[in-house]
Amino acid sequence: ELTLDVVKVRADFPILERKVHGYPLIYLDNAATSQTPRQVIATFDDYYRRYNANIHRGLHTLADEATAAYEGTRETVRAFLNARERREIVFTRGTTEAINLVANAWGRANLKAGDEVLVSLMEHHSNIVPWQLLAEQLGIVIKVIPVDERGVLDLDAYRDLFTERTRLVAVNHVSNAFGTINPVKELAGIAHAHDALILIDGAQAAPHEPIDVQDIDADFYAFSGHKVYGPTGAGALYGKAALLEAMPPWQGGGEMIKTVSFDTGTSFADIPHRFEAGTPAIAEVIALGKALEWVSGIGLELIGGWEQQLLAHATERLVAVDGLRILGTAPHKAGVISFVVDGAHSQDIGLLIDQLGVAIRTGHHCAQPLLTHFGVDATCRASFAAYNTPEEIDIFVDALERVIGMVR
Ligand code: PMP
Repeated sequence: ELTLDVVKVRADFPILERKVHGYPLIYLDNAATSQTPRQVIATFDDYYRRYNANIHRGLHTLADEATAAYEGTRETVRAFLNARERREIVFTRGTTEAINLVANAWGRANLKAGDEVLVSLMEHHSNIVPWQLLAEQLGIVIKVIPVDERGVLDLDAYRDLFTERTRLVAVNHVSNAFGTINPVKELAGIAHAHDALILIDGAQAAPHEPIDVQDIDADFYAFSGHKVYGPTGAGALYGKAALLEAMPPWQGGGEMIKTVSFDTGTSFADIPHRFEAGTPAIAEVIALGKALEWVSGIGLELIGGWEQQLLAHATERLVAVDGLRILGTAPHKAGVISFVVDGAHSQDIGLLIDQLGVAIRTGHHCAQPLLTHFGVDATCRASFAAYNTPEEIDIFVDALERVIGMVR
């Protein structure tokens, strides 16, 4: 059976050679941001040394090269998501901006007071707050899809939430707080049966499993490059061409127009450029393409399988820790484990374990409604990537036990 060559993978990540407080770095905060392979880092050096130029309005060699590389990433993202067409890919700063784009461009044009948007209890704040802003501004109604005690969406309750006013379902593919993998294809089918659209926040899914927006039948799908071994500042929104075409722009500026006139008014560019006002993060987008090529070079099946092994090993070790409770016990989980420890504050654990070189996340993970529902205001979260190893997990759990001994 094919398995990931983790030694080879690790060799691509210079940051893994560094020490933190004298200890080798053990980086288990991948759900917040993943580390960057040297091939992606090198893209920046190459871009700024050789072909830094503004895109699309060039007519000189450097501008042509930069435009070709930028638009090349559009094709890479199209293939990564298995979208039908390149023009269905809009570059954004990340997932947050992608969701805000849908809320502002699609939402303002299509939602009226009393229309309903379903969001799940396990959403990241970035898939809650944009809808709350629209609720304030337009009078739309937000309804919350509940979760069970394992952190799994309640599908019966989901079905029951639909009315003839339901216009959109906004859910994540994978929960950043608990790691739950949601049945997005089924959720989409149910939404469509009720003539509602579905927007999927794929921020935590894109790094862990192959995405197929056509198979899911997603209307909108968003992800962030910096969680898929790419740089910060570049991500993408997939939208079905017919939907994007019917949407007005949400930001005005250069690059997004056909003609501008004070007399006859302004006409807008075709999709996707209508939604990319101003100079974009050119180097970052090009580097995002390199990151996705790096991922595809290994294969998300292989990466996901490796992370499942890490998850199983970490779960087995963590449940044996005295007084430790894992939150989120869904049968289908990505490589994310949230936990709390009796008699030890999550924040203290995070600070002390950092002193031993281990980077985990503590806090509410921008999912306060979910944590509140589970009766906690913070958890510790370990999340895995292709370069993590079972040995690192052992060091992490040993360090955790040491830290718990110190704070109790
Ligand atoms: N949704 C989920 C599920 C996330 O995990 C994150 C990042 N933590 C976001 C949205 C927001 O992504 P970004 O900050 O890159 O826009």
